[in-house]
Order: sequence, then structure tokens, then C-alpha cells
Amino acid sequence: MKPLFEWYQHGIYGPELVIGLKTRPCSWGRCKFCSLSSEQTSTDITYEDVIRQASTAITSHIETVGTQLSKVSLYSGSSMFDDEILTDYGIMQVVKMVANRLKPKIISIESRPEHVEEREIYNVMKLCGPDIELEIAYGMEVFDYKVRQEELDKGLQWGDIHTLYSLLKPYNATSSNARVKTYAIFGVTKSMTGQRGVLDILRMRKYLSQIQHEYNVPTLLHINTMYLSDNDYGRQLRDEEWQPPDFSMLNHLVSPIDDMIGDLAYYLGVDDEGLALPGMSMKMTPNQKEAIKSFNFTQNPNVLLNPMKPV
Ligand code: SF4
Repeated sequence: MKPLFEWYQHGIYGPELVIGLKTRPCSWGRCKFCSLSSEQTSTDITYEDVIRQASTAITSHIETVGTQLSKVSLYSGSSMFDDEILTDYGIMQVVKMVANRLKPKIISIESRPEHVEEREIYNVMKLCGPDIELEIAYGMEVFDYKVRQEELDKGLQWGDIHTLYSLLKPYNATSSNARVKTYAIFGVTKSMTGQRGVLDILRMRKYLSQIQHEYNVPTLLHINTMYLSDNDYGRQLRDEEWQPPDFSMLNHLVSPIDDMIGDLAYYLGVDDEGLALPGMSMKMTPNQKEAIKSFNFTQNPNVLLNPMKPV
């Protein structure tokens, strides 16, 4: 069985291999916008299947690309620390393979915060050793409580995120071994494709910056622009004449506003990964796409202002 997906990206930390493992479906499975849970299989995937997929992806990287990686991000299209998706033993085996065979500086594991337990963090940290940092990634998607809970059914509150940070804080007391990545979606509802969506991201940035300082856990904000996929929510927004966000708005999402919210790391999602309904993702020219990639590496929002000119 092949992984769901694997690709390379280049962010602030350098070259990154992203591996999406095919697993059992997300046990939450309710987020309206979700385009990945449908990609999961309902057949009974064992942890050996998942480990084999990880091994295939690692071998393929070593044999075909071979570059030393700064970061390896592990996804399952659901939540890796969910015991129904992968046992603790399964996670440990996957992390061990990545740590030993790819030796990145950072291993990122995507999950919902409620599945992340103290003993799991401890075990993974121990496996990684002092030279590999652990990043826990989760999707908060929007700051606005009503949109997040009532319109999108995300089921996450900031209290859950504080719990996650407090689990990670001890690992940064004497060194920097723990990180967090938060996903946000720009334009996730019809009313949030413009200024309201920008303000929502700015509020998220400010709040994350406060938490980052409070717990001393460095945080990356990964902002995807919404695209409509072929599910009920995608078709509903299309019927409401939702329009994809405009490229010109991206600069506002990541420009420094003040000292407090200028100190997060950022990543702008580059494309819809081929999952969008035709015409239902942000339109961009090749130069604009290159500008986003350049921003992700340099963190310089000016590169988004005039993509024709190299900055
Ligand atoms: S938690 Fe993630 S995988 Fe599960 S439904 Fe929500 S977005 Fe989809």
C-alpha cells in the first residue's frame, strides 16, 4: 500500500519531506471543510501497513532524492496520536525509522490536541534524542469561535491548545526541543474571503504569539487559502457563489504589524494539491506561485507585493 501523498516543500527551516500515510478514517470526522478524511480507507489498516508505507516513502526519498532534510512532517489525513488510527507502538516505529534513516532536525506530527498525551510526548522525545526537535501540528483553522464551532464543527477550543503547550513547555526549559504548528484557513466561509478573513488571521497571529511567549514554545502559523473540494461543504459554498481569495490579500496575512505578532514563523500553502473542484481555488500565475515559495523560505512579505520582480 502506497502513502496517501508525499511531497517536498521548502520553508523557513529548509528542505522538508511531507508524508501522508493512509490510515483508518479520522475518528472526529466532522469538520465541514475537510478534504482529507474521505481519502482515508474504511478497511482495517494495521499498524504494520502504516509502518510499511512510511518505510516505502523513506526508501524512495533516499534512493531518488537523497538530500539531507531539515524537517519531516508526518500526516495521516486524520490525527496520528489518535489510538484508533495508530497505536503508540506504531507511532514509535514510524518516528524511529524517520529519526534513524533520515536524521532531520525536526520531526513534525499532525494530530488533534486532545489525542496528544504526556506519555506519548515523553516516549517520542526520548526516541528523537537531543538532536531532533518534535513539532506537534494541529488545525485551529479560524479564530472566530462561532465560525469554528458552529459553521465548521471543528470542535477545538483554545483551552485544548493551552493544554498542548503546557505538555510541551518542560522540554524547552533547558534546551529547545518542542515546537508547535497551527493551521489556519483563509477564506473558509463566504464572508471570510476578504477583510474579515484577514482580521481573523491577524487575531489568530496575536493570540498565538502570546501563547508562544507564555509557554516558551516556538510556533509556526501555516496559512492555507481555502479551496472547494468535492464534498457537501464544497458544493454548498459553490452554490452560495463563494469566490476564492485573491492573491493580493496574502501580503496582509503575513506582514509585520507590531512586535508582538511579527515574531511567529509562517508558511503559506502553495496550492490545492489537486483536490479542488475546477476553478475553485486561488488563481495565481507561475510568478505568484514562486513568490509564495520565496516568502516561505525568506519570511519577507515584500516578495508577495510584486511577484514579477525578484526582491
Ligand atoms: S480533524 Fe482533521 S481529518 Fe478529522 S475531520 Fe477535522 S480536518 Fe478532517
